[in-house]
Formats: sequence, C-alpha cells, structure tokens
Amino acid sequence: MPIDATLPYDENNIFARILRGDLPSKPVYEDEFAFAFHDINPQAPLHILVIPKGAYVSWDDFSARASDAEIAGFIRAVGKVARDQQLVEPGYRLLANIGGHGGQEVPHLHVHIFGGQWLGPMLA
Ligand code: IMP
Repeated sequence: MPIDATLPYDENNIFARILRGDLPSKPVYEDEFAFAFHDINPQAPLHILVIPKGAYVSWDDFSARASDAEIAGFIRAVGKVARDQQLVEPGYRLLANIGGHGGQEVPHLHVHIFGGQWLGPMLA
C-alpha cells in the first residue's frame, strides 16, 4: 500500500528497524551515511536498496533537511555499490519511488539499484 510521503517519519518502519539491527538483512555496503542491502523480493537478477542512515521519508524531505555531507555521502554510496557490484559496464538502473503516485511502500527514503540483465526501455 503506497504511503503518504508528507507524513512524519515513523521510527518503526521496516528500514529503520533494519538499520537498528532489529530485523535481519543481507547487507552489501555500509558507511557513515548509507546502508545497502538486497531487496527481499528482487525484480531483477541483482536488486539492491540503498538507504540514507538519517530519518528521511522522501527525496524532497532529504534534499531539504539533510546536510551537504549526508547528501554527498548517500550519492557516493549509490555509486560505490554500483562499482563494487561490477554494474558500471554493462549498466544498471536507479529508481526512487516517492509517495502515493510513485508507489512508495516503505516510508524511509531508498534508491533501488537494478542490474544483471537488459532491463528494457523502462520499468512498468
Ligand atoms: P518501494 O515500493 O520503493 O517503497 O519499495 C520497497 C521495497 O522494499 C520493495 O522492493 C520490497 O521488496 C522491499 N522490502 C520490503 N521489506 C524488505 C525487507 O525486509 N528487506 C529487504 N527488502 C524489503
């Protein structure tokens, strides 16, 4: 069920619980600003989620409230995961679902990284 991305951050959302270590995940990368782990329901041969460590629901919330260091750190982490996973060539796709029309289901900002095969011209 898509969320309303303007609601206040829910400290008990599933990714917050993963970040705290209360729920298990399959991590692929972690640094001061970001955490990356395998999606539980992969939509491509490789499907990784990268999340900022801070409490942000949406891209606009993150870009408005996060520090420059957090924003740079998050973007660098996405790039590092792509490099580490050998995705730069042959290529990959980034996706962020935001709010109701975007189909966002987990109210903690996340970027999907899809790869491992030709992904078609666009995801449905
Ligand atoms: P959204 O629609 O962009 O919010 O995507 C949420 C993603 O989180 C979906 O691709 C889910 O499969 C994924 N997901 C939900 N729960 C978990 C979990 O516990 N571990 C890893 N991925 C999850």
